[in-house]
Amino acid sequence: MGRFDGRVAVVTGAARGIGFGTAQRFADEGAAVAIIDLDDSAAAKAAASLGASKAIGISADVTDAADVDAAIERVVNELGGIHILVNNAGVTRDNLLFKLTEEDWDMVMGVHLKGAFLMTKAAQKHFVEQKYGKIVNLSSVSALGNRGQANYSAAKMGIQGFTRTLGIELGPFGINANAVAPGFIATEMTDATAARLKMDVEEFRKLNAEANPVRRVGFPEDIAAAVAFLASDEASYVTGQTLYVDGGAKLG
Ligand code: NAP
Repeated sequence: MGRFDGRVAVVTGAARGIGFGTAQRFADEGAAVAIIDLDDSAAAKAAASLGASKAIGISADVTDAADVDAAIERVVNELGGIHILVNNAGVTRDNLLFKLTEEDWDMVMGVHLKGAFLMTKAAQKHFVEQKYGKIVNLSSVSALGNRGQANYSAAKMGIQGFTRTLGIELGPFGINANAVAPGFIATEMTDATAARLKMDVEEFRKLNAEANPVRRVGFPEDIAAAVAFLASDEASYVTGQTLYVDGGAKLG
């Protein structure tokens, strides 16, 4: 018997990286899973590879209200409901403040904050009706400030405030909302950072591992484990919290 038998989990930005690792974890523990991502065929391919009892891939832009509403409707119709929402879709547009453009700012705010808002608003209708729901939002250690990421750190700290407010407003309806704040996780997002810094990916990971108290980088499975705990009934007395999963990086 799996922890998520009979549950339907939706993970945004899940065609790869942390989102895919999280979707895999839900599938492995018995959930039906919807993978939402921009690219239709990438979402479908990722869903098919999960080996879940039921899984669908849906192409949607989380910043587009019509896309989001249609995606949630498809989940409910095709998977029979919705119980867990993971707001994971993300982008970076890094630059020092004096070079950061208005487009860089709007893009990052849009995907992380507006995206999480629209997805949560669409899902909470169902959660409130059934008096059950789990929301897990992806923040980041960068919420605490990071050179070259004024836009991203503002968005990721915004996610923490959003999560606390969801905890307050939705708690009376049997809904838990928490955030996970990863440190350095080996994905295409951090590989792109290496490329921008003109560094070899393996060298970049090695440097980050050496600087980390546990002397390794994180992997999507590390984040998936924390998300799964917060989305489980074992965490029903935990809400509004942000759990840093960073090997102790923020202690430094
Ligand atoms: P990733 O490998 O870049 O994957 C992000 C996924 O989100 C991609 O498949 C991307 O699709 C999708 N996406 C982007 N914009 C979207 C939109 N508007 N609508 C729907 N999907 C969209 O990133 P990751 O490293 O797995 O990161 C996942 C989450 O964890 C993000 O919120 C990120 O900020 C956070 N995080 C990551 C790290 C890290 O070290 N990796 C650390 C802290 C926090 P496309 O490829 O088509 O653009």
